[in-house]
Amino acid sequence: MHYTGTIWRPPYETGSLIVEATAGCTHHKCKFCTLYEDLPFKFKPAPKEHIEADLLEAQTWYHDPLRKAEGRLFEIDKASYDRVFLSGANPFGLKAKHLLEIADLVHEYFPECESIGCFSRVTDVTCKSDAELRELAAAGYDGLTLGIETGDDDALAFMDKGYEAKEIVEQCARLDAAGISYAFFYLAGISGKGRGIEGARRTAVVVNQTNPWLVGVNMLTIYPSSELYEEIVAGSWQEEMEVEKYEEVKELVANLTIETEFAMLGASNPVMLRGRLPERKEQITSALDSIINDIGEERLRSYRSNLRHL
Ligand code: SF4
Repeated sequence: MHYTGTIWRPPYETGSLIVEATAGCTHHKCKFCTLYEDLPFKFKPAPKEHIEADLLEAQTWYHDPLRKAEGRLFEIDKASYDRVFLSGANPFGLKAKHLLEIADLVHEYFPECESIGCFSRVTDVTCKSDAELRELAAAGYDGLTLGIETGDDDALAFMDKGYEAKEIVEQCARLDAAGISYAFFYLAGISGKGRGIEGARRTAVVVNQTNPWLVGVNMLTIYPSSELYEEIVAGSWQEEMEVEKYEEVKELVANLTIETEFAMLGASNPVMLRGRLPERKEQITSALDSIINDIGEERLRSYRSNLRHL
């Protein structure tokens, strides 16, 4: 497989075939981000011949087990994937025509594939027409993961995310209209010391106007190679305490009024949680209280300080 650098995928895409469609990020400016720093370039689309070769290779792994039992190890006319996840920070930033060509390849090698997902920036949706979004939906694009991070305009601007909160609402409405579902990644801690609760409230206002199937929370983990670290050293930004990050998440959960899945998964979360909202709101907030009161700042901070890699 042609995988370039570290490959990131959402925790709920474990069962998907991961195919590299792009490497790196078209934006590459968010101050806290160190995800693609191991690449010698900012962004590159994968050559189509690499994608095709990877799909062919994957087909050979997932042939019918009965055929395997018969000793026909390289029979490639039967595969079992029903979902493909395109890797890269924002493959949805590719032009619609390019994405449709990739979908054609996916369906050629995996005819039973029901959906194709990937990470997307909010601005990747902005760049596509309504007709293009409908075409992409018809080609199987569904279940995008949008790293919205926050609905707090001050934090979005400071971190150089490249969009405002109202664009999240506008672009998600366009995805809804096109029939493309999406999940959100929220970044606890992004608003900075003393502003976590306000950031959570502002985010809830934004998220309550959208329809994500999941709101996933990641926790800000700052590495010395990030621009944000330099801001801290320069004294222009202060990190939230770990406990404040959990108070912030509690505030977000308390203020969400939509029906959605809530999840804290992945390495940035010392404690993993998952539950349906609104049904499990009380259990989730009580679990967050236990983390704050029973685990406490020192052990939570120790986890974060020892987290070498996300
Ligand atoms: S858009 Fe995502 S991958 Fe790109 S710089 Fe920002 S956080 Fe990092």
